[in-house]
Amino acid sequence: MTLSVAVVGAGLAGLICARHLAAGGSAVTLFEKSRGLGGRLATRRVGQSLSFDHGAQFITARGAAFRALLQDLEAAGALAVWRPQIVGAKAGRRNTTWWVGTPGMTALFRPLAEGLELRLATRVLAVTEGAEGLRLGLEGDEAAGPFDRLVLAIPQIQAAELLAGRPEADALASVRVAPCWTAMLAFAEPLKTGFDVRQADDGLLSWIARNASKPGRDPAAETWVLQADPDWSAAHLEQEGSEVLAELTSTFAAVAGPLPAAIHATAHRWRYARTVTPLGRPFLGEDRILVGGDWCLGARAEAAYDSGLAMAEAILGKGP
Ligand SMILES: Cc1cc2nc3c(=O)[nH]c(=O)nc-3n(C[C@H](O)[C@H](O)[C@H](O)COP(=O)(O)OP(=O)(O)OC[C@H]3O[C@@H](n4cnc5c(N)ncnc54)[C@H](O)[C@@H]3O)c2cc1C
Repeated sequence: MTLSVAVVGAGLAGLICARHLAAGGSAVTLFEKSRGLGGRLATRRVGQSLSFDHGAQFITARGAAFRALLQDLEAAGALAVWRPQIVGAKAGRRNTTWWVGTPGMTALFRPLAEGLELRLATRVLAVTEGAEGLRLGLEGDEAAGPFDRLVLAIPQIQAAELLAGRPEADALASVRVAPCWTAMLAFAEPLKTGFDVRQADDGLLSWIARNASKPGRDPAAETWVLQADPDWSAAHLEQEGSEVLAELTSTFAAVAGPLPAAIHATAHRWRYARTVTPLGRPFLGEDRILVGGDWCLGARAEAAYDSGLAMAEAILGKGP
């Protein structure tokens, strides 16, 4: 009997889980509320020529399996190693390979999603469990199912909302995730900053990066990504984007010198950016509903990979 599985969330955790389930013989449907893949491994395109990785900045691997996947994706041209010129208090700590998707961070998801049944632009609003299996309520009064298993590979706060009233929702309360205000700026002329990346925890901006210094980007596009410190982001979470943008830009100017007028400037608020207190195990649940994502294990993309893989292995190991 073929096991039918609904996976919700097409970030790294959901895609890895869906791929392994499909390879193991399950009938998988992957639901994603956005129009594209990747979740927080994100790329924002503006017009024809500008693009910004406004979520995760680079990917590192500690485990052998994740490293092997990244190397395969590099061989397929979907990832490349980034060697920026780094300054700041944390500059000396760089001792690992930094991979980035090419030409944008989301590019690595195309090969990962090959052959999967995708339902993009489809937000899952409700989960009901009955004798015949699990059904999903979707945006627009649609429904899907029944499924034998459900994997929620989404931020824990959103999972808790979907699972309200179930015991899994209570267990999610121990997890803490910090927000991150991010600014995307582009200029018509090169900035003379003397660095591609400034990594420091000495003030409002914890990360400043010349996006165009990443491999596969248009080097003529002077694009920059600024990330605010987690505490500052939390303290200013509900502030207007325009005010945050002005503050981040003026802090950048204080570091980089006077800036020319930007040809593009926006701010993005990541409410659930980086895990502060993880769950401490690779996923939650053991019966028909499994819940996972980076927040189970840490603040890095590899934590999402480990969680997604562990959920697939648990389902395949158990069988129908
Ligand atoms: C600003 C920022 C900087 C970061 N920097 C780094 C870094 O440099 N290096 C690093 O390794 N990591 C970094 N990270 C963390 C990294 O991005 C995450 O660990 C990883 O992408 C998490 O993957 P995930 O699959 O667990 O979750 P997500 O990527 O959040 O994927 C969840 C998906 O579920 C979808 N979804 C949610 N609810 C629903 C619903 N109800 N119905 C349908 N779909 C739904 C979302 O749209 C999303 O696509 C950063 C993150 C941020 C935000």
